[in-house]
Amino acid sequence: MLKEQLEDVKKRIAEACERSGRSIDDVTLIAVSKTKPLSDVEEVLDLGTKEFGENKVQELVDKYEHIKEPVNWHMIGHLQTNKVKYIVDKVKLIHSVDSLKLAETISKEAVKRDVSVDVLIEVNVAEEESKFGIKLDEVVSLVKSVSALPNICIKGLMTIAPFVDDPEDNREVFRSLHDMASEIEALNIPNVSMKELSMGMTNDFEVAIEEGATYVRVGTAIFGTRNYNI
Ligand SMILES: *Cc1c(COP(=O)(O)O)cnc(C)c1O
Repeated sequence: MLKEQLEDVKKRIAEACERSGRSIDDVTLIAVSKTKPLSDVEEVLDLGTKEFGENKVQELVDKYEHIKEPVNWHMIGHLQTNKVKYIVDKVKLIHSVDSLKLAETISKEAVKRDVSVDVLIEVNVAEEESKFGIKLDEVVSLVKSVSALPNICIKGLMTIAPFVDDPEDNREVFRSLHDMASEIEALNIPNVSMKELSMGMTNDFEVAIEEGATYVRVGTAIFGTRNYNI
């Protein structure tokens, strides 16, 4: 079943790329395996997907330790400063940097371990109360501050769009994030790249691709619905 669902997602990604004149090589699918068992991760790995996303530090570390094959782990959930030390040397990309304090902690832990950590700045484009991330008008200033820190490297922006019935309703959100990335790119801040845009989930990844997503984070469409009560 996972095989068919994964193939369907990949097909829809390819079609969205086609529609928007983009190369499928420019869009990376992150399989969001949160709450799902190791056996599901292994099955999707065997099908050729190497990028996995988790939103909790403990779960990411558990899976990291049990999966033997090389996997690129993405931290996509809210990150508390006191938990940074558990993941800095285990993840390919932290998508959820939303404060200078968090960036400073990542930088400090990265220096200790002699690694360089790639991050995205999480933007709450729609300014939803329930979501983490900074406002659009705070992005430039945070990016400038983080760019001066050692061993942390900004690669782009991330957003979690509102939950909507019609994915078209999120097009403007994705477009705003893309525009913000272009604005920052034009500032030529040293040590800052705006190449990556992490946006789009099960409900809206096709619209996100049409608006420039380079990472889509898809859970439900690949693994099925999540049960949080187990
Ligand atoms: C859970 C989660 C996803 C995947 O959500 P689906 O709707 O299941 O595709 C993507 N991004 C983040 C940050 C998440 O927490």
